[in-house]
Amino acid sequence: MGCYARCKFCNSNMYIQTGKAQMTFPLPLICGNCNRQNNYYQYEIVDERHDFSCPFCKKNFFIKKQLPRMVKCPHCKSQIYADIDGSASVLTEGQHPNREGDTAGGLLGGAAVGSLFGPAGAILGALLGAALGHQGLAHEAEDDDAGAA
Ligand SMILES: [Zn+2]
Ligand SMILES: [Zn+2]
Repeated sequence: MGCYARCKFCNSNMYIQTGKAQMTFPLPLICGNCNRQNNYYQYEIVDERHDFSCPFCKKNFFIKKQLPRMVKCPHCKSQIYADIDGSASVLTEGQHPNREGDTAGGLLGGAAVGSLFGPAGAILGALLGAALGHQGLAHEAEDDDAGAA
């Protein structure tokens, strides 16, 4: 489901469409349950996604399920092993990477992976995400567990 914050008044979860890397803090949120507004900070946002940058085509993708996973990059169809430590390794190379947007994707990918581990990386991710706008959008990886068995 992406990211959510817990309402400070009624404790219900407020889901947010935007990825954590695209948010700016403090983030004003209005609770859908009790209708009260408050500002939320980065550490209060729970991110159910794991962000990766494809080692082959350098574009961003994310995984919502538990790690580690065998997945297919949604961009180049490479078969990728996504590890719990935030690293992604190519098992089978897919289509040749489209070089368009390589630099921006690579930069943001690095920052997004950094956000798994600490506030500094996450703040950098937010800044880059804001600067890059729509280029920062990632796609969810395709589940490839069946093919890897
Ligand atoms: Zn509430
Ligand atoms: Zn790829």
